[in-house]
Amino acid sequence: MLARVANTIAEVRAAVKAARQSGKTIGFVPTMGALHEGHAALVRAAKKASDFVIVSIFVNPTQFGPKEDFAKYPRTLEADRAISSEAGADLIFAPGVEEMYPERSVTFVEVKELDAVLCGPSRPGHFRGVCTVVLKLFNIVQPDKAHFGAKDYQQARIISQMVRDLNVPVAIQVEPTVREQDGLAMSSRNRYLSAAERSRAPGIYKALQDIRERALSGEVDVARLESALESELVKIIGAKIDYARIVDAETLQPTARLTRPAVAAVAVFLGTTRLIDNIVIGVEN
Ligand code: AMP
Repeated sequence: MLARVANTIAEVRAAVKAARQSGKTIGFVPTMGALHEGHAALVRAAKKASDFVIVSIFVNPTQFGPKEDFAKYPRTLEADRAISSEAGADLIFAPGVEEMYPERSVTFVEVKELDAVLCGPSRPGHFRGVCTVVLKLFNIVQPDKAHFGAKDYQQARIISQMVRDLNVPVAIQVEPTVREQDGLAMSSRNRYLSAAERSRAPGIYKALQDIRERALSGEVDVARLESALESELVKIIGAKIDYARIVDAETLQPTARLTRPAVAAVAVFLGTTRLIDNIVIGVEN
């Protein structure tokens, strides 16, 4: 059965109220649509953890820079509805921009420090837009649990910090990155890749795995690991490295030696498509 689609905040609030009245817990998966197996895994995890699952589908204009792909971001609501329903969603919230940002919206949420590294400098205002829309969605849905993907590692860290700092009563669960068979992290943006770019894209994950192997075999010097990571990435034909960093897994700050869990995080342009991926290192996983 296809999940119902709600376009207004009032409809969502009414559905949540009814679910709560019948004793159900609420799980939430915020997305921008163009759903794939990575999103479906989040919905399945949500359905396991909560009784009533809401998936939001909203291409959020405030998290896109002026030169980014907001206008051409894929919008595939009917397919998204089928994928969400199949994975266990009970309600889809698909608001229009005016519903989420009525005229004269001037309040924004910023998480400092964690937004100053990795994707932050390359995408000014991006995390401010993400935090603002996610907090708004949390206030609309009021879920018990919300599920995010490890693929957007920095985003998950920032949301967890926001929820902690602002006492938002929601538990954040981070789910593993779902990959294609050849290792490429699934992403709605993969559909922008040409055939040649697509065939080279798995090199990104290979480079990350190589670094993880080096760390597992005892290399703890982060500068050496970072330069190995760069030399692996430059082997990908046509790739332009935006960043390739190894940072503390919790603070996202630079670290000289792997004494605590760290994350190797990269952003790479293949043609005009910007792909991100990461791997946790410095711990057995
Ligand atoms: P978006 O793709 O921006 O709509 O992301 C919606 C949610 O899905 C975020 O929490 C992402 O981290 C998550 N997500 C996207 N791709 C993947 C993936 N390959 N594996 C796991 N989670 C993902």
